[in-house]
Amino acid sequence: GVKNAAGRCGLGAVMGSKQLKAVVAKGKQGIEIAHPKEMLETVEELKEYIMNSKISSILGSVGTPLLYEVSNTLGAIRTKNSQLNAWSESLNADVVETFVDKMIGCSSCIIHCRHRNKLGGEGPEYTALGLLGANLGIEDTAHVIELNNVCNELGLDISSSGTILGWTFELYEKGIINKEMTGEKLCFGDFELAKKLLYQISRREGFGDILAESTRNVERFGKTSKDILIAVKGLPQSDPHDVRYIKAFALGIATSSRGADHLRSRPTLEIFLNLPQEVRDRIYGKGVPGDPTSYKGKEKTVYFSDNIFAAIDSLGICKFICHGFNSPHFIDYTWMKKLIHCASGWQFKEKDIQEIGKRVIDIERMFLNREGISRKDDTLPKRYFDDPMPLKITKGHHIDRKEFDSLLSRYYKLRGWDNNGQVKKERVKELEELM
Ligand code: SF4
Repeated sequence: GVKNAAGRCGLGAVMGSKQLKAVVAKGKQGIEIAHPKEMLETVEELKEYIMNSKISSILGSVGTPLLYEVSNTLGAIRTKNSQLNAWSESLNADVVETFVDKMIGCSSCIIHCRHRNKLGGEGPEYTALGLLGANLGIEDTAHVIELNNVCNELGLDISSSGTILGWTFELYEKGIINKEMTGEKLCFGDFELAKKLLYQISRREGFGDILAESTRNVERFGKTSKDILIAVKGLPQSDPHDVRYIKAFALGIATSSRGADHLRSRPTLEIFLNLPQEVRDRIYGKGVPGDPTSYKGKEKTVYFSDNIFAAIDSLGICKFICHGFNSPHFIDYTWMKKLIHCASGWQFKEKDIQEIGKRVIDIERMFLNREGISRKDDTLPKRYFDDPMPLKITKGHHIDRKEFDSLLSRYYKLRGWDNNGQVKKERVKELEELM
């Protein structure tokens, strides 16, 4: 769709530097299916199974904006560079819906969770509402949708753009950067300013030329600027959710390979406070309390999610319908096993597929280890440790350094990494032989 710009992590910049406009794959032969009849039957069965989940119809009618209200009610929406944690109800799904032309879906998907908006673009997703709305102090729904459309047209990552703009607005407010550098006054809540800066970033004009360097600007803005930067491993946080409250989310973004990526392991079920404990036990194993503020057992939540999301990514299936992402009633290893068999004829066991997910995570980690990334980098923005959340139910919550440290150690142990976050030699050897 028009909003699939794949802007995150600067792929467009890499392509630009190589003078590569696009990569096109074409062919006429199709893909041979090992068991076509069984495949059709399984897909029909799976469709019914997925549509029986309550979340499917909610996703199909309002899409991810439903998460804005959930997070905002809790007081867990990143607001004004995480100085605040709650924002306006004007960005709730029912208001956004009045701007929706129609719901659409990715190729062959039965969920249809995406919107075509009346302002000429696609979206907004929850990330846009949070990061181009609450995080920039903008309340007007139409303005947020317009910023969303501008980012998509320009191929800019909404999460990174919203995070970097919010960061620089606060830096300006605090006097860490000034007009001499920016050329004009920066402030939250100024839609025209935000829009102008997005264009300037894409054209590398004016202050946008500096903003385009993203988190690298810590060197230019000075060391104190890093204290209020919401990024991990140099990558701005993608999730508009304030992770100070939900500890599994915090561990997930701290350990994600690329940086503060929520899609690596987001255990959205942590938000569903009324999920029965026996369901939780079945998914993550025993010893994971339902309380999202508890550090206990949350290494298991992230470990499970890392593995299954890596497996479903490898199959090219959308994470939104993966077991444990939005619902316990979606595609799990048993469904994956069936689909793989129908398509390829291969006979995998559930644990083989889980092992594939584990291998993906370990190989990514081997790459990171080779580049010097280790425990010191699996951390969180300083603000998440030091500044308690100021509003609503989540008021007073922050990340405790000691608790986080032992959670990280338990996670490494579960992954089989050493206490410095390095993949152990035997595993490296095993995977290298396999490769
Ligand atoms: S493939 Fe995923 S993102 Fe696309 S419409 Fe379906 S559920 Fe939504």
